[in-house]
Amino acid sequence: MKFTDRVERVEPSATLAISNAASQLEAEGVDVVDLSVGEPDFETPDNVVEAGKAALDAGHTGYTQSNGIPALREAIVEKLATDGLEYDAEEIIVTPGAKQALYETFQTLIDDGDEVVLLDPAWVSYEAMAKLAGGRLSRVDLSESNFQLEPALDELAETVTDDTELLVVNTPSNPSGAVFTDAALEGVRDLAVDHDVTVISDEIYSAITYNTEQTSLGSLKGMGDRTVTVNGFSKAYSMTGWRLGYLAAPKALIEQAGKLHSHSVSCAANFVQRAGVEALENTDEAVAEMRDAFQDRRDMLVDLFDEHGIDVPIPDGAFYMMLPVDGDDQEWCEGAIEEAHVATVPGSAFGTPGYARLSYAASEARLREGVERLADAGYL
Ligand code: PMP
Repeated sequence: MKFTDRVERVEPSATLAISNAASQLEAEGVDVVDLSVGEPDFETPDNVVEAGKAALDAGHTGYTQSNGIPALREAIVEKLATDGLEYDAEEIIVTPGAKQALYETFQTLIDDGDEVVLLDPAWVSYEAMAKLAGGRLSRVDLSESNFQLEPALDELAETVTDDTELLVVNTPSNPSGAVFTDAALEGVRDLAVDHDVTVISDEIYSAITYNTEQTSLGSLKGMGDRTVTVNGFSKAYSMTGWRLGYLAAPKALIEQAGKLHSHSVSCAANFVQRAGVEALENTDEAVAEMRDAFQDRRDMLVDLFDEHGIDVPIPDGAFYMMLPVDGDDQEWCEGAIEEAHVATVPGSAFGTPGYARLSYAASEARLREGVERLADAGYL
C-alpha cells in the first residue's frame, strides 16, 4: 500500500507512546503511578450524566443540525459572553471534542507552505495538525522566560511577519500550566493586527486557573474578526470521553469550516450535546471543587519538589507542571517509567527538551507516592 505524504510527515502522539508503556507494565502486574495523562481524575458531574441519560430516554438519538443544536449554541454564546466574547449562534460549530474544532480550523486556514507559529512548549497535536494541512512551522521558545509569553514578545515580533498565516495561543497552557498576562495578549494583538494574522485561542483550560483569571484573546479590541476561539467540555467538566467541544469564529470562517464539518463528522452526538447544555448551565459548584482540588495538589507538588531541592516553574492553571530534569529528557522519562514506575511525558514532545511534563490529575496520595518513587530511584 502507498500512503499519502500528508500522513507520513506526522509522528504518532508521544503522549500515547508513554501511556502504552504504562499500560504494558500494568498488564504485567506492575503498579504504575501514571502522571502522563491529560484528563481529570473526577467523575463527570452527576447532573450532566443525568441530562445525557434523560436525552437518550427522550429519544434524542438522531443526527442534529450539523453545526450543533440551537440550545447548545445559544448556551455557548452565553458562556462566551461571560468571557467578554461577542459571538452569535451562527458563529459557532459544535464538534466532537476541541481537537476536531482545531483540526477543522487548521484545514480551513492552512494551505501548502503557509506559516504557522507555535509557542513552545506547545501541545503535541498543533504540530501534527499544521503538518497535515501542509503548513510550515516556526516556533518561539518560552522556556527561557519561565514559560511566560510577555518576556518573549520581542522574539515573537521577530518571528511573526506578513508571511505568517496563523498563530496558536494556548493559555492556560498544556504542558506548562502558564497563564499568559494581559500585556502578553495585547502584544499578540498588536502583532496580529500589524501583520494581518489569524490567531487560534485554545481556551480549553480556562476554567482551571488559580487566583488569577484568563483574559480571552478574542475580547481584545481588534481581535474579534481575526480570532478563532476554541474551547471544550473535556477538562472543565471532566467529560473527556463524551467528546464535545466547539469553535467560535467570524461567520465567513464558519461557512468554510462547516463544509469540512458536515462532510466528515456530520455533527457531535445528539444526546451529548444536550448534556453539554446542562454542563454549561449548572456546574459552577462542581467546577470550583475540581479547580480547588487541582490547586491543593499543585501546592503540594511544588512543596515536595522544593524539599528535594528542585524549583519547578509554578503553574497558574491547567493541571500540568514542567519538572526540570537532568540529561536527555526522553531517556529520563523512559528510565522513570521502567525503574521508578512513574509515567511522565518528555518535554521534547512539546518542543522543550530538558523537562518532563507531570499531570497532577491524580490523588494526593498517588502524587506523593510518585515523588517518593522518583526520589528513591535517583531521579530527583
Ligand atoms: N487543546 C489542548 C491544549 C489540550 O490539552 C487538549 C486535550 N489534551 C485539547 C485541545 C483537546 O481536547 P478534547 O478534544 O478532549 O476536547
